Amino acid sequence: AAVASVRDVSKTYGARKALDGVSVEVGAGEMVALIGPSGSGKSTLLRSITGLHPIDPGGTITVFGDVVQQNGRVTGAVRRARSRLGMIFQQFNLVGRLSLFSNVMLGALGRLPSWRGLFGVWPGADKAKAMAALHRVGVSDYAAQRANTLSGGQQQRGAIARAIVQGAKAILADEPVASLDPVSARKVMELLVELNKRDGMGVIVTLHQVDYAIRYCNRVIALQKGKVVYDGPSTGLDTKR
Ligand code: ADP
Ligand code: ADP
Repeated sequence: AAVASVRDVSKTYGARKALDGVSVEVGAGEMVALIGPSGSGKSTLLRSITGLHPIDPGGTITVFGDVVQQNGRVTGAVRRARSRLGMIFQQFNLVGRLSLFSNVMLGALGRLPSWRGLFGVWPGADKAKAMAALHRVGVSDYAAQRANTLSGGQQQRGAIARAIVQGAKAILADEPVASLDPVSARKVMELLVELNKRDGMGVIVTLHQVDYAIRYCNRVIALQKGKVVYDGPSTGLDTKR
C-alpha cells in the first residue's frame, strides 16, 4: 500500500485555507520533497497525514491502507499509522535531559522510560538494536551524552536512529535540515537517501532549498497557497521561477 494517499484535502484555520483541495499519493519506496514558500501548507500537510489535527470534512487520508482521516475526523487507525511513520522535526524533538541512547530507546518503547530505563536497565535485545541504529547513523560515540549537549546534526541523526528503532516503514520529515550547517545538512539528507534506497523506506521531506530537493529526491511536490502547483520528477523543476 501507499505510504500516504491524500484525497481532496482542505484544512481551514478560521478564514485561512492552509490546504485547498490537495490530492497526492506517495508510494512505498518513494523519496519525495515537499517544497513551497513559508506558509504554503507543507507542515499542515504532514501534520494532517500524521493525524495531529483533523482536516476539513470531505477529504480523506490513508496511511499504508488505513483510513486515518475521514468526515472531518481523525480515526482510531491513526495509532497504528503513527507507529509506522518515523517523524523528524526541524528542532529534533529529543528529550534534552536524557541521553541520546535513552532517546533512541523511546523509539522502541513508544513512551518515556520507566525509572529502570532512566537508570540504564533496558532489555538486552532492545539495547543492541538501539546501539546498532546509533552506529548506523554515525553517532554511537555520543550514546551516553545528554541530547542537549550535542550538535544539531548529531541530534538529528539521533532522531533518525529513533525512527529506525521504532521500526518505521516511512519517514515524514518537517524541515529536518533547516537548523543545520551545510555539512550536517548534507549528512542528514544522505542518511534519508540511504534509508530510502537500502531499506526501501518511503520518505516525505519538506525543504525550503530547492537545490536539496533536486539533488536528493526523485519527486517533488510544490505547494503554493495550499494548492499543489507542481508534482513530478525533480529533474523537471524550473528553478528560475
Ligand atoms: P509551511 O509549512 O509551508 O510554512 P504551514 O502549514 O505551517 O505552512 O502553514 C500554512 C498556513 O496555515 C499559514 O498561513 C499558517 O499561518 C497557517 N497555520 C498553520 N498552522 C496554524 C494554526 N495552528 N493556527 C492557525 N493558522 C495556522
Ligand atoms: P513551520 O515552520 O513548520 O511552518 P510555523 O512556525 O509556521 O511552523 O508554526 C509553528 C506552530 O505554530 C505550529 O504548531 C502551527 O500550527 C502554529 N501556527 C502557525 N501559524 C499559525 C497561525 N497563523 N496562528 C496560530 N498558530 C499558528
